[in-house]
Amino acid sequence: MYKTIEQQVRRNIAPPELRREFRQHDFESLHSFCLLIFGISIGIWLLFDLIVSYLGQQDFTWKSMAFITVMATLSIILAFTRKAGHFDLLNLVFIGVITLAMRLVIEGLPQELRPAWLMLGASSVLYSVSVLPVRRWSFFAALVITWINLHPFQVPGLHLLDLRGVMFICYAVFINGLILYTYLKMRRAKLYNFYMSKVLLDQAYVDALTEIPNRRSFMAKAQTHLQEDDEQSRYLAMVDIDNFKKVNDQFGHDIGDVVLKRTAANIKASMTEFEYARLGGEEFAIYLWGINQADAEQRVDALCQRVREDAAEHPVTISIGLTRIRREDNLSNALVKADEALYQAKHGGKDRYVLWREATNPLLSPAADES
Ligand code: GH3
Ligand code: MG
Ligand code: MG
Repeated sequence: MYKTIEQQVRRNIAPPELRREFRQHDFESLHSFCLLIFGISIGIWLLFDLIVSYLGQQDFTWKSMAFITVMATLSIILAFTRKAGHFDLLNLVFIGVITLAMRLVIEGLPQELRPAWLMLGASSVLYSVSVLPVRRWSFFAALVITWINLHPFQVPGLHLLDLRGVMFICYAVFINGLILYTYLKMRRAKLYNFYMSKVLLDQAYVDALTEIPNRRSFMAKAQTHLQEDDEQSRYLAMVDIDNFKKVNDQFGHDIGDVVLKRTAANIKASMTEFEYARLGGEEFAIYLWGINQADAEQRVDALCQRVREDAAEHPVTISIGLTRIRREDNLSNALVKADEALYQAKHGGKDRYVLWREATNPLLSPAADES
């Protein structure tokens, strides 16, 4: 199954909004890693700067202080950066500054050592960028900035076509190719994994026929709401299509499916701000919160009316059982109460809602009905 879905995902190109979501998600999950990379880069640069300044008897000048200040400021800005797009730019500025700072250190070395250190520096910077959550354009821009600032041919005496020059070129092509290839491959693999988990989550939490949330999704969301919402304003409604079996028997299963989809669409349209789901078969549930009893009743009544008046080819009606979720209720006994009220609605003639009252089933809840 995993393989089948993986093949489907690979065949489809991830839509732009999903790519945007992926970039943001990737940046958020790697935010502290980015800070670590900035911090380590500054630390290593400072170490080399101190070595060259003291062991190499070059002075630790104001330029070093200026570079540290700018790089530390950029790291602080990164700590407050929340958008992936901003990081693409910030990272480029950081690359620009740190490669200039590296050049400063390398210029303090004996001339014959400089080309190799420039090469080492450029490779290290590019490898670090390749593991950061940056977009392609930002990665390529980093590549260009790095090589402009750290190319070994800026050292006098090194020529493109002499032995050392050719060896440097070959190595640069190899290391760039390797880093570029792994960057593109890893990024694509991460995008596919993100896409896959999205598809699998959708399949696990969305009802395939009606395309509204399913029971699993409803139970999880309603459970979370139960812990957060005001105990005086939580309502649960169970919705059931009336005489649905007849629709199937008379017009066939396909028309039954059309009716199910239409009913789900009506629920979705009239309960947008609440949680709703298809529980299974022709039963739906709605969790309403932040409203008083009169409003809850008015909303479910309006839903009955909307379905009744829906000018469709195969009209149906629905019955609804509504209950307030009291402090002592959990989700499953609230569902039982709503089901009880639904049963009353069916027996009262269908195409209506009934509010659960203690009198409906005194054994179910000994607590007084305050509504
Ligand atoms: P009542 O008014 O008392 O609710 O009667 P009813 O006929 O709606 O209730 P009943 O529970 O007897 O029938 C439900 C039917 O829903 C039975 C089943 O075949 C049908 N059903 C369940 N799932 C689906 C589905 O996915 N598609 C279709 N077309 N029918 C379904
Ligand atoms: Mg039913
Ligand atoms: Mg029914």
